[in-house]
Amino acid sequence: MRDTIRLGRIAGIPIGINWSILAVAAYLVISLTFGALPRWWPSADLQARLITGGSITFLFFASILGHELGHAAAARRHDVEVDGITLWVLGGIAKLRRQAPTPRAEFDIAFAGPAVSLALGAAFAGAALGIDRWSTWSLAASAASWLAITNAFLGVSNLIPIAPLDGGRVLTALLWRRSNDAEHARLTSARAGLVAGTAVVVLTAGVFVFTDALSWWVFVLTALTGLFVAHAAWREVIGAVIRARLDDVTLGAVMTSRPGSIPSDQTIDGYLRSTASGPAVGRPVVHWGADPIGYISPLAVQSMPIPERSWTTVTEAMIPVDEVVRAWSTESVSNFLDRSSEEVLDASAVIVVHDPTNGLPIGTITPPQIDPLFATPNPWGISAAPTPPPTKIPAPL
Ligand SMILES: [Zn+2]
Repeated sequence: MRDTIRLGRIAGIPIGINWSILAVAAYLVISLTFGALPRWWPSADLQARLITGGSITFLFFASILGHELGHAAAARRHDVEVDGITLWVLGGIAKLRRQAPTPRAEFDIAFAGPAVSLALGAAFAGAALGIDRWSTWSLAASAASWLAITNAFLGVSNLIPIAPLDGGRVLTALLWRRSNDAEHARLTSARAGLVAGTAVVVLTAGVFVFTDALSWWVFVLTALTGLFVAHAAWREVIGAVIRARLDDVTLGAVMTSRPGSIPSDQTIDGYLRSTASGPAVGRPVVHWGADPIGYISPLAVQSMPIPERSWTTVTEAMIPVDEVVRAWSTESVSNFLDRSSEEVLDASAVIVVHDPTNGLPIGTITPPQIDPLFATPNPWGISAAPTPPPTKIPAPL
């Protein structure tokens, strides 16, 4: 959700609003001014009702901001950085830079938002009771009870245990603590969200079409919420399946075992002619059959002008042996990607994979060989990783 308007910063966190929230604000001001306020305050003129409706709407959005600041404060306490908070048509989003590191952090961050909403609900309810008891200012009491009910609703509805709602993250935290498997816990709450969101859309549409129980705007808002939940949950399912897959697959399973070497005086033309079609394979460059002096991938020379290829040797285009990226064959792909910067993994890179038992290089990987692991999975299959090539007996390159 992009910020349309930047409002400023609170405790260093950028706060923005998306244009879609203006529609909600207009709807709230109009429905309060012409619906609730004439009942709460029959003697008020239009101007007084507009100002009051506007103030209540402002407090409503301040309450949503309070909910998101609750998430943000808990995230910071667990060393998860917050990039910003955006308010939009379906509430707010606190953008966290990374996933919660532990089940405890996941729980605290998720629960903090609804906790703030419930606390605000209680505070507004207390204010409503107090005003009602010790004054005759019934308008303020009515406004405070409206805010109490709305905040209580925000707190409770966000605790429904489905992703992407806060309750889904609470469920993830509980499952994660029990199973010690973050991705499968996320997968379960994301699938619950996918099912629930789709069910909401189908049921609301059914009720709207076949009965008179729903006004069109309740139908639109409910169906939109269901769609949002289903779509966000779908993306979380895909993300969780891919991450689980990257955790399960080792570099040894992705690498090309013992790729053939290229003589150091070979021209680029000759090298490309000898390279089979198919995914780019990184090969060692050797000088008179000795140890590799560097590594080369066809992607490193594809932008080289064609005439130059006939007089340039692979030695001039290769990655020198002390500059290649190295990794152990037993390392998971997710671990390797987490510790590697993007420039290390540009398309022309060659990763040299070593056997941890004897330290010898046993294979190579080029970034395009990792790409199939990111293919969009079937959301109901657990870890449908593409079959990796069989790993051959480790031997020095
Ligand atoms: Zn929340």
